[in-house]
Amino acid sequence: MEIIDFHMHLPPKPEDPTEAAARLLTAMDKAGVSHGVVIALETSSRLFRVKMDKKALRKALSESGIHAVMSKWSVIRRIIENPDKVLEEHEYLLAEHRRGNLQVLRAAEASGGRLIPVLSYNPDMGLEENIRLVEKYKGRAIGMKLFPTFHFINPGDKKLYPLYEALADNNMLLIVHTGCDPGIWELPAMCRNARPSSLEGVAGRYRDLDIVVAHLGSYSLLEPGIFFHESIQLGRSHGNVYFDTSAVDTYFVGKAVSKLGAERILFGSDYPYMVGLTMRDIVCEYIRAQWSYEVKKMVLRENAIRLLGLHGWKIV
Ligand SMILES: [Zn+2]
Repeated sequence: MEIIDFHMHLPPKPEDPTEAAARLLTAMDKAGVSHGVVIALETSSRLFRVKMDKKALRKALSESGIHAVMSKWSVIRRIIENPDKVLEEHEYLLAEHRRGNLQVLRAAEASGGRLIPVLSYNPDMGLEENIRLVEKYKGRAIGMKLFPTFHFINPGDKKLYPLYEALADNNMLLIVHTGCDPGIWELPAMCRNARPSSLEGVAGRYRDLDIVVAHLGSYSLLEPGIFFHESIQLGRSHGNVYFDTSAVDTYFVGKAVSKLGAERILFGSDYPYMVGLTMRDIVCEYIRAQWSYEVKKMVLRENAIRLLGLHGWKIV
């Protein structure tokens, strides 16, 4: 079976998008992945400096509570010991891992149809300009992704509704990062915008908008599965919500299949961000999982073909 990966990124190196695409395709060939949804990541150092200084960091610490002190101590200790260095490192990493919309679109063009691009919300632009991005690249990109952590936005914020309307009108997907993110975004106060429950209102209001909840609400190095239960609740109430399995332990994927059925679960590798694992390693975990062949076929390929097809994307 040829696999479709619904969540991958362009490697940060080599910098040239065409060369990065070639590297991605080589990893896909080794893993038996025919097509990949490749997600752009727009970040903003300016926004980071506006939102995060030592005072904001202290506030996030104090709002994070005793549970965080226990489970997220490795992050908290570094913040207490050297907040300036922590801020500097995060700003650097945001810039380092930025893979903008144009780079991802160029990589997809060079891939012979194997890479399917997703735009990133651009926090350096206003809402109107982001809407114009959607309109400009409809038909060339399958959707737009929001990163509530890096973009400091709450996807449930009504201010974003015009963007969701534009996505629905142009038959594009909304993809939302859920769970935590590395470093300071592990703090509860820093990842609360990325809770699947913040999408309840949006999913209910825009029934013709298909939403992909990235990472099943489970992304966290220090507390894997952190908002998994909210994903299940969201999936039970709204048929227009799908889930990708990137950076999620197959234990949670199996649980999601048993609670929601397999139809809306999409395999994702999060390549190249699963440090120490190749795309092939990740695929192998799924091949080895104790699920029926039917379930594997759906999660690894058929659900993706169906959802892409609904949004005008033919897999050839
Ligand atoms: Zn990702």
